Amino acid sequence: MNLMGIDIGGTKTAACIGNDRGEILASKRMPSASDTIEHYRKQMLELCYETIAKAGLKPEQIDAIGISAPGPLDCKRGVLIAPPNNVGWRDVPIVDMVQKSFKAPVFCNNDANACALAEMLFGEYRGVKNLVYLTFSTGMGGGIIANGELIQGATDTGGEVGHHTLDPNGPLCGCGQRGCWEAYVGGRNVAEQLKAKIRDGNVTTTMVEKAGGIDKIDVRAFEQAAREGDRFAMAEWDMFTDRVAQGIGNLIMILNPDVIVLGTIAIHTGDFVMGPIRDKLPKYTWEWPLKVCKVVPSSLGGKIGDLAALAVAVTGLKHAGQ
Ligand SMILES: [Zn+2]
Repeated sequence: MNLMGIDIGGTKTAACIGNDRGEILASKRMPSASDTIEHYRKQMLELCYETIAKAGLKPEQIDAIGISAPGPLDCKRGVLIAPPNNVGWRDVPIVDMVQKSFKAPVFCNNDANACALAEMLFGEYRGVKNLVYLTFSTGMGGGIIANGELIQGATDTGGEVGHHTLDPNGPLCGCGQRGCWEAYVGGRNVAEQLKAKIRDGNVTTTMVEKAGGIDKIDVRAFEQAAREGDRFAMAEWDMFTDRVAQGIGNLIMILNPDVIVLGTIAIHTGDFVMGPIRDKLPKYTWEWPLKVCKVVPSSLGGKIGDLAALAVAVTGLKHAGQ
């Protein structure tokens, strides 16, 4: 079976050819930025044809196409509603745009859900029935698999765990609510809050120097300063990992998952972030669901974007009964 995956991100779009075992035969990428949606459509289709040729195939040999794209999106209509990092994109009929050029069925889902499917089908813990994937990157996207099925929800916002409220008086979130989990642990929010604290409190911290200026502070500079024993960074790291643990604890209590897989920050930072999270979890969840739940960084690394798009194709075919 030949599958094509299209992974649309805020900065780049990747196409890949692979199969339902998660083997990738070819992949290519391009920038997502384009002056118009029509121009983007042409470039994306060209990327698809080039990737198919690179795999030594013809377009009619593709059996299904999966698209992984930033939410919010309407999966049934195949429309990207308003991806936050793709300026000017509103109600983009992404499935139609691709479907018009290929005979194979086209399916789409948001990137966090697609990653959850990839972990279930191709990851280290493939085959488990209850899995949560957390993007843990600039934001905190989530995808939930319960009893082997993705929780899509009535309006495709199932699994938006980053926007469950930890504190109604907490910091403002990009979604407009206050005190969302993402407002505390999303990389962009974390960096903004650190900058404000350092400025307002005239704080001396090696974070500034590591980042090359207050304005450039990011999670990486934060982590490095904390690792090297900077007092401010260490205290903040403790609060940050506590908020991560609080959200994960809530998920464990609600879903009783076999495994929770974390993306970007967990992959790059490893035990320095995972250790404190695991230490703090008993504060936020009962002992026995915690005992069975593995909380781990993703093992799929840089391939997860391609695999996520392929997983959307595999799952789409399964639900279509093919
Ligand atoms: Zn929010």
